[in-house]
Amino acid sequence: MNDDLRLELTFLRDLGFTHLDIRKPTALPGAVEDSEAKTLLGELQTIATVCEKCKLSRTRTQVVYGVGNPNADLMFIGEAPGRDEDLQGEPFVGRAGQLLTDIIKAMKLTRDDVYIANVVKCRPPENRNPEPDELDACRPYIQRQVEIIQPKVIVALGRFALQSLTGKAYGITSVRGQWLEYNGVKVMPTYHPAYLLRNQAAKKDVWSDMKKVIAELGIES
Ligand code: URA
Repeated sequence: MNDDLRLELTFLRDLGFTHLDIRKPTALPGAVEDSEAKTLLGELQTIATVCEKCKLSRTRTQVVYGVGNPNADLMFIGEAPGRDEDLQGEPFVGRAGQLLTDIIKAMKLTRDDVYIANVVKCRPPENRNPEPDELDACRPYIQRQVEIIQPKVIVALGRFALQSLTGKAYGITSVRGQWLEYNGVKVMPTYHPAYLLRNQAAKKDVWSDMKKVIAELGIES
């Protein structure tokens, strides 16, 4: 079996597939051409939309997959959808989302320039923290989204995003503002926008982190 095929089969098994219909083409593994990214993201979304890998599938209104530019240089990755996101099917559209949109605008970008997703695609009841089994079940989706989009930089919003991506028990306060790495992509950890709603003083820290991202991406100010 070649390496690409092995990767693809492992990916599908991680998503919970036990059988394959070999008559149908499935998503391509490995390196992705720019023009293919939209198609591949769409194919993955079709799978995610009916996902029942964890108990959140029983309480969600809908899967909140991700939005934005399939060829984005910059990805923002958050924790899990809240009530507004669960109802609208789009990440970061509630109060914390408005703040994220403001941060993106302050970087002289729009939501359409970047890609926005969460490490958990379904709303945890009452917005409780995602549980380890839920983070594990959902991880293949964000892994594959990153593989397809191939961003230059990921901004990890809060500790759940950071820990789920890196597999390390980092505290967000101790590592925010420091470059880390995820599968060859630079990761800038910063505070979650919901934290900023409660702690206005931390906004200056987030902006200092975003200035590093701006410099890394060479965004004109
Ligand atoms: N918080 C998140 O982490 N993600 C969302 O989509 C909304 C709020």
